[in-house]
Amino acid sequence: MDMTEKLAKERRARLAAERLLEQKSRELFAANEKLAMHARLLSDEIVVQRSVVREAQSEAEALKGQNARFVTALEQAHTVAVMAERRLWDSIDTIRDGFAVFDSGLQMVAANRAYLAAFPGLSVAPGVTYGSVLHAAAADGLVRLEGEAASDWVARMLSRLDAEVIEPVVVQMANGNYLRLMDRRARDGDLVTLAIDITEQMRIWAAIEAIPDGFVLFDREDRLLTCNQQYRDIHPESAGILRPGVTFEDILRNGLAHGKYAEAVGREAEWMSERMALHRAPSSIHEQKISNGRWLRVLEQSTPDGGRVGLRVDITDWKEQQAALEAARAQAEAANRAKSAFLANMSHEIRTPMNGVVGMAELLCDTALTEEQRLFAETIRSSGEALLVIINDILDYSKIEAERLTLHPEPFDLERTIHEVAMLLQPRARAKGIDLIIDYDMFLPTRFVGDPGRIRQVLTNLMGNAVKFTDQGHVLVRVVGPEGAEGAQNLHVTVEDTGIGISAANLEHIFGEFNQVDDQQNRKFEGTGLGLAITRRLIEKMDGSVWVDSELGKGACFGFRVCLPVSEAAPAARLPITLRRALVVDDQFINRTILERQLTPHGIAVTLCRSGAEALALLAADARFDVVLTDHDMPEMDGLTLARHIRAVGHAMPVVMLSSNPVVARASGEAGLTAILQKPLLRSELYRHLQELSVQVLPPAAPPPPSGRRKMRVLAAEDNRTNQLVFAKMVKDMDIDLRFASNGLEAVEQFQSWKPDLIFMDISMPEMDGREAARAIRLMEEGRSRVPIVALTAHAMEGDSGAILAAGLDKYLTKPLRKSAILEVMVEYCPDEARPLGEAA
Ligand code: ADP
Repeated sequence: MDMTEKLAKERRARLAAERLLEQKSRELFAANEKLAMHARLLSDEIVVQRSVVREAQSEAEALKGQNARFVTALEQAHTVAVMAERRLWDSIDTIRDGFAVFDSGLQMVAANRAYLAAFPGLSVAPGVTYGSVLHAAAADGLVRLEGEAASDWVARMLSRLDAEVIEPVVVQMANGNYLRLMDRRARDGDLVTLAIDITEQMRIWAAIEAIPDGFVLFDREDRLLTCNQQYRDIHPESAGILRPGVTFEDILRNGLAHGKYAEAVGREAEWMSERMALHRAPSSIHEQKISNGRWLRVLEQSTPDGGRVGLRVDITDWKEQQAALEAARAQAEAANRAKSAFLANMSHEIRTPMNGVVGMAELLCDTALTEEQRLFAETIRSSGEALLVIINDILDYSKIEAERLTLHPEPFDLERTIHEVAMLLQPRARAKGIDLIIDYDMFLPTRFVGDPGRIRQVLTNLMGNAVKFTDQGHVLVRVVGPEGAEGAQNLHVTVEDTGIGISAANLEHIFGEFNQVDDQQNRKFEGTGLGLAITRRLIEKMDGSVWVDSELGKGACFGFRVCLPVSEAAPAARLPITLRRALVVDDQFINRTILERQLTPHGIAVTLCRSGAEALALLAADARFDVVLTDHDMPEMDGLTLARHIRAVGHAMPVVMLSSNPVVARASGEAGLTAILQKPLLRSELYRHLQELSVQVLPPAAPPPPSGRRKMRVLAAEDNRTNQLVFAKMVKDMDIDLRFASNGLEAVEQFQSWKPDLIFMDISMPEMDGREAARAIRLMEEGRSRVPIVALTAHAMEGDSGAILAAGLDKYLTKPLRKSAILEVMVEYCPDEARPLGEAA
């Protein structure tokens, strides 16, 4: 082979290799392509697979977390349960009461420490039976069996467990403590036992049992909770029903059925409701007599939980003592009444001779006497009167003490009563130179229903004291008061003076019995110290009150308040007052104001002056006054002189003088006065005079007494000779026909035969007393005109005045008799056909 061929061969080989290379490279490329595509698919797949794996991985992660939490929770729950159980048992272990659980076979499942501790040293532990626990306790002397055999006790204690509802039972332990065992069946047949230490409760209960009174406790439904043996003993008939749960009402009904309650017999239903009402009251105490004759004090009280607790105290002994005391009191009261009666009788007995003493002394004073004799006679009279005041006070007081003083309300005129008291006190006031002033509110009614005698007594006391303890100035009685409810009037009566006054320390003291201000200044005044005590009691009896305001040395003001029904005013045919202008002259401001207040409502224009000189000056300027009202006693120029001056300058208007001493005024001669009126002046009296003046500006000459009239016939029935003499002397100056009767029978005879115009009737006389005589006379004169009969009484016991008037007497005078009182009565009853009484020539 040549070279070429060799070359060609080489070239062809090279070409074939190139082509093969090409082919191989194409194949490689295609394989490459395929591979790339596969690789791409594979990598996609891998991506997918990867994400799946990742998801699976995270899911596995999550599950793992969850699982871990679950395990923790489970572990926690377990711990909690264990702790709770431990805590429960710890708690059960801490309670003082024993607690144990037995299974249905009565084998102990568990017990707390307290339970187990009750059996020290004994093999009591879970696993033992209920019975063996009891056995252990009994055998070891842990419980007091009180004589019962241990086996009996165990049997009894076990047999209680068979009951449907197991009743609690109390056992006393050897150490004295008490346990209450309470057993309950649980639903699964277990038996739960609780042993409660009730030693404290038992101690209280023992105390309740120890008290000598019955004790009972009810719950809010009024069911018996418990009661002690004493309570059972008090209600032996209810022993059968006195069990917890029975109601109070059932116990009562049971008692009623057995006639237990003495006070309920015959009125059971009513009694029952009264008793239940007491029981239901928040708290009540009453006394009850039970059928065995014993007395109970029943106390009931609600408890905070709405139940009721009661005590029954046997007060039979106390009742007996009380009855004995009551009897003693009744006896003492009877003795007291006897004493009062004795006092009344004695006072009557003392009064009769006193009547002679005082009356005769008064008459003696009217005769011609030497200075010395006059002094003696005056002393006898004033001492006698003072003695009578004391007797009256003591008598009144003993009456109030004996509770025999009753009020006798009747219509009366308060203003007039005050006026009358003032008139009685006027001589004393005048003698001391003090003014007695009455200021009765113009707009108040004057007639009320009350006990005029007692009101007069109060006024006499207060006004009398005021005059007694005042040496200069005035005593002012003032009556005011707001209208009360429905026809009643509140009256505030004050008596104000300018006397010695009372220190603050003594203000309350003086209202006590026999209490007086005890100082140098006061000692010179006489008195019993009973007046204010009586006054207070009387006013309190009238549901009023008394007070005093005073300052030592500045006068006193005593007051009382009462509320009295207003009495219909007696319709008086009133003449009109037509006077238009009045001049009032008085140095005292109070008097001027009172007069002004009294005149103005009648349409009179009032001009006030303080003195005669001022009045004269006024009159000189203007004389057109219809009337001049002047006071008597004024400094510088008195009323009489003023009247003389008025007349001297030629004024003709009426001049009326108000004087506390009209007698003296009259005696001082003619002064041209139209009238002299007694001070203090009664309002109605003032109006009456002004009415008269309205009709006739100047008073007419008094008509001559018609001749040919007979004398007034006066019969005096009086058994006592001295009193007859006194009476005769007292009326000796009167132009009358006087006869005496020395007992009731004679009085009745003289009434028939002589027909007297007026009878004075002593009440206590022999043969026939004054009351009977009066009754007899009233029977006889049936249908004919009625003779006035005036009773003469000693200061009689309460009730007498009513009885006297009821016997047909018209009036009564109390002894010792006073001339003025007798005259007043005779003037009142002098008949028209008799000669006027004027003092005999
Ligand atoms: P009596 O006047 O009989 O002593 P009372 O009970 O009436 O008894 O008065 C008791 C006392 O009260 C009087 O003694 C006197 O000390 C005092 N008293 C009463 N009224 C007045 C008064 N108007 N002014 C001063 N003291 C008075």
